[in-house]
Amino acid sequence: FTGKTGTEVPLATIKERKVGEYQSIPVVVDESDSVYDAISAMFLEDVGTLFVVDRASRLAGVLSRKDLLRASIGNQDLESMPVSIIMTRMPNITVCTKDDLLIEAASLLIERQIDALPVVNGTDHHQYEVVGRVTKTTMTKALVDLVQSEHPLGGDRS
Ligand code: ADP
Repeated sequence: FTGKTGTEVPLATIKERKVGEYQSIPVVVDESDSVYDAISAMFLEDVGTLFVVDRASRLAGVLSRKDLLRASIGNQDLESMPVSIIMTRMPNITVCTKDDLLIEAASLLIERQIDALPVVNGTDHHQYEVVGRVTKTTMTKALVDLVQSEHPLGGDRS
């Protein structure tokens, strides 16, 4: 669509976009790591959702901000509490693959009322390798990208 001068956002183009074009790097912690470690990782890596992996590096769980807040309230011993006891665990994790449509991943975020999906490889017996991350921020960036690629000079609001 380079050079297109129409004023419409190309809806058909949005529908074709794949997760793999927009996914970001996943931040993972080990299921034996402590809640304290996970909170540190969330701040250091500047993400709102952490993915938890087992010893074989397979997806085991998800940790949201509120999961960590809930575990922290009135709890003195975050360094000895493993994340495995508070995480949302497999098989109750909503995932996507790099070949899924971005709009399908966006719909899942809304439907399941979650902020992030792990992008995974492999489907046999839920043995997922975590290869990426898509979040509500990913969707916001994709929206801006798509509009700007349609209107290359449209970013100037001065
Ligand atoms: P927060 O809890 O900070 O509002 P979310 O809305 O993303 O953040 O998470 C809500 C709940 O859903 C949390 O308990 C979290 O562990 C869980 N959750 C987050 N992402 C997923 C996912 N991809 N699949 C299943 N559960 C998830």
